[in-house]
Amino acid sequence: MNTFKHAHMVLGLLFAVSALILLSTCIVSGKTVADMRQAIVQFVIGKEASLQTADFQELQTDHFIIKFTSSDEECVNMIGKAAEKAYASVSTFWGEKPARKTMLIIYPDNLSMNESFGWERNEKAMGVYWGGTIRVLTPREWMQDPQEFELFMREGPMVHEFTHLLVDQMTRGNYNRWWTEGVAQYVEKEITGFKFVDPEKPIYYTLSELEKDFDQLDQRSAYWESLLIIEYIVEQYGEESVYEIMCALGNGATMQQALESSLGIGYAGFEIGFYQYWQDI
Ligand SMILES: [Zn+2]
Repeated sequence: MNTFKHAHMVLGLLFAVSALILLSTCIVSGKTVADMRQAIVQFVIGKEASLQTADFQELQTDHFIIKFTSSDEECVNMIGKAAEKAYASVSTFWGEKPARKTMLIIYPDNLSMNESFGWERNEKAMGVYWGGTIRVLTPREWMQDPQEFELFMREGPMVHEFTHLLVDQMTRGNYNRWWTEGVAQYVEKEITGFKFVDPEKPIYYTLSELEKDFDQLDQRSAYWESLLIIEYIVEQYGEESVYEIMCALGNGATMQQALESSLGIGYAGFEIGFYQYWQDI
């Protein structure tokens, strides 16, 4: 057995033992199964992220533990300031805040960020929310002046990714990709004014298509439609309905049940109403 494999086995064992300890702690404190599942996922991913970034430098702000490489020494303070501002505005927006400090990892390039969570594709994401951690690409890759706070705040990933974190928390991990992408874009637009470029000829997807195959769909259309569904809910039923749907999801409802109970309309009726709205845009 080579050392690499051996190290992985030890790590796997460590995770399993840690997860068991966490599980027994959760049972003692009377948490639900969904809470336990989410706590274990976040615990394991958090430990893995700590190990992966063991040789990174660390900066702590009030609500974040920021991991970064020496190439980002000059912009880490600006990113920390943006993270705190995103924390304040998104937490105020929902009236919710994370229970503990959030790990924020700054990657020096796309490749290292993608590799950190096993993406093989050559994705060009600016940020990712993954199991309780926020991972962002260094602004050096896309900003001429990587210390420009206003630009990073408006066009950078902090508000969007921090919203994903709160969606995960409010729903206790019980959500669809389209839901979290729609909500993250909605909050981002409300807070920073930023919006992705509209697709030229958007493709319409049914709710079940969005639910099942989000990653396989035309991404521009799928993201655009996800935002449009949230905007439709806000316009027709009020912003508080979005919050209510998340509470219902957090209590274990399916997307269909959460939507029907919060909006007081059947799923099919909702989908017809939304399709008309989509056509009128
Ligand atoms: Zn997103």
